[in-house]
Amino acid sequence: MSDLWSLMVGLRVTKKYFLDPQVTVRYPWKEVDNISTYKGHLELVSAKTPGKPKCISCGMCAMYCPSNCLTVVKRKAPKPTPEEEQALAEAKAKGEKPKDKTPKDPEKLLYDFTLCSLCGTCMENCPVGALAFTGSSYLAGYSRSDFHYDLVQVLKNQAGLEGMDASAAPEAGQSEA
Ligand code: SF4
Ligand code: SF4
Repeated sequence: MSDLWSLMVGLRVTKKYFLDPQVTVRYPWKEVDNISTYKGHLELVSAKTPGKPKCISCGMCAMYCPSNCLTVVKRKAPKPTPEEEQALAEAKAKGEKPKDKTPKDPEKLLYDFTLCSLCGTCMENCPVGALAFTGSSYLAGYSRSDFHYDLVQVLKNQAGLEGMDASAAPEAGQSEA
């Protein structure tokens, strides 16, 4: 008897909404256009030069991330030329502190989207506003590793500087700094 009652209730709901306008779309042939406030995975914000991140490799985002899904890999200082080595030695002899010429932007910024709760703490603690949420809502993949990104590489790809190679990025959590 309870099964019949349940069926009747279900049919009554179906009847009520049967002639209402359709609110869903036939994805993937059509996509919704009302998700302007959607928060997708993180991306790096570009500096004035396209493909070069605003990021200064300070590591604050990784330090404050509650899910431990960010790893900042800093750049190594470029090898000095013989002239620069001589200038360094002279500066050292004079007791001057040599100027650090290491580029500030990171080598890699590894991001494990499978762990990210999209809380925004990393963005709040970034001193230069180098991180943003994308509006990307149609991500799909075959394995968890498909959602491990090197955000520096992703930014370069967006700027058309290099071929799409995000899948080749090392997994987030590895530290090379
Ligand atoms: S949004 Fe939150 S969980 Fe995701 S990377 Fe930033 S701090 Fe971590
Ligand atoms: S994204 Fe921001 S907080 Fe993270 S390392 Fe770069 S500058 Fe620092």
